[in-house]
Amino acid sequence: MRIKVHAMYPTIIVHACVTALLLCAFGARADVGATVGELIENQHRILVLREAANQWDRAEARKAGQYLFFRNQELGRKLVEQITSSAQEMPARYREMTGVLDDPAYSGEDRLIFRSPLEALSRKLPPNERRDATRRLERLADLRKVLGADFEYGFRRVPLKSVPPHAAQWAAYVSRIAKTTTARQILEELDHELLAAPEPAGDLTGAAARARVLEWDGEELPERTVLLTFDDGPHSGYTPAVLDILRDQGVRAVFFQIGQNLGDVSRGAATPGHNQPIVSRLLVEGHAVGNHSYTHPVLTKLSRRNIAREIADTQALIEAMVPVGQGRTGGFRPPYGARDDKVLAQIDLHHLRSMVWNIDSEDWADPLPESIADRVVREAEKAGRGIVLMHDIHARTVEALPIVIRELRKRGFQFAWWNGEKLVVDADSGTLAPR
Ligand SMILES: [Zn+2]
Repeated sequence: MRIKVHAMYPTIIVHACVTALLLCAFGARADVGATVGELIENQHRILVLREAANQWDRAEARKAGQYLFFRNQELGRKLVEQITSSAQEMPARYREMTGVLDDPAYSGEDRLIFRSPLEALSRKLPPNERRDATRRLERLADLRKVLGADFEYGFRRVPLKSVPPHAAQWAAYVSRIAKTTTARQILEELDHELLAAPEPAGDLTGAAARARVLEWDGEELPERTVLLTFDDGPHSGYTPAVLDILRDQGVRAVFFQIGQNLGDVSRGAATPGHNQPIVSRLLVEGHAVGNHSYTHPVLTKLSRRNIAREIADTQALIEAMVPVGQGRTGGFRPPYGARDDKVLAQIDLHHLRSMVWNIDSEDWADPLPESIADRVVREAEKAGRGIVLMHDIHARTVEALPIVIRELRKRGFQFAWWNGEKLVVDADSGTLAPR
């Protein structure tokens, strides 16, 4: 008996090792599948929240949608990392992803959000898998054209009145998703992550009040004027693409950048990171930079101390990377637009000025560039003026941008820009009165 047990040890150990290896390999692959599932699930939730935001104009739904958008950026990066972290496992993990993506339960529309991860992957994959990724990207581009054609059709009508007929396929997709859950349910699930901590501004109400008065929200712009703003960058691929378009079109914009994309801050000392050349180019081409926090948290949830740190760390980087002059706006954009007296007081105490938006491109929800552009034009027509919110971290925004500029110009809109002191319009003439 004793001998038997001993004799079995090596077998048990081998089994244990093999099981551990299998678990390890399977674990990584199962993670790939889970990440894909979560990305699609989040995109569904974003679309449901967007519908709710439009129906009831609920700021919470909009904030929650943008919150999930930001999380999906992280998940997209995680997916690329999971697949490419081991050169040996790469083909198997890639197939694991495509296996889940090809599940007939998912539709082409569901797969549209995988454009950015597939683009990032295709640069790293071995030849066979790269060919597959390229084919998938082509199929997604074709679907995008079919879905977007209806919106392009809409642009030919001046002024825009009816919903373009081609939007039907996309609308059917969104309403299918809306049957599976409700905005209320999603908001409840996210409550603990989004709800503001009950901490009043206290003796800072003077600063908060001042920040409210000074806040830019688009209303201060002259009639038929828009300011283009791009959040969440700089991004090594998409920010330069946005800059190319702006240069070709002769339009200047403001970029609200996230500190962790700019560099590191340790004990108050800022060290610019690898995106410094993008920031330099942006300044040379006449654009300006604003502060969008360091880690993009829901600031209303943080303590005063942590809010101050989010603002100060990014400001230290901006001061290290952006020389005093035209490129510094002194603007701060709260992530998700989430601000209360406590947050506003901190913005004021850091001698910054809050800038929100009144025209949401909803590029955080909408994978169709033509639909994004269509929305910006409609909202601009409705408001007559405004600050446009976009994100320079996505292919769809890059593709929407030329249409946005073309269609706004066609309708007589002019573009505001930051001249180092204030927002001004296109040429030197027609300067805006500061509010
Ligand atoms: Zn943001």
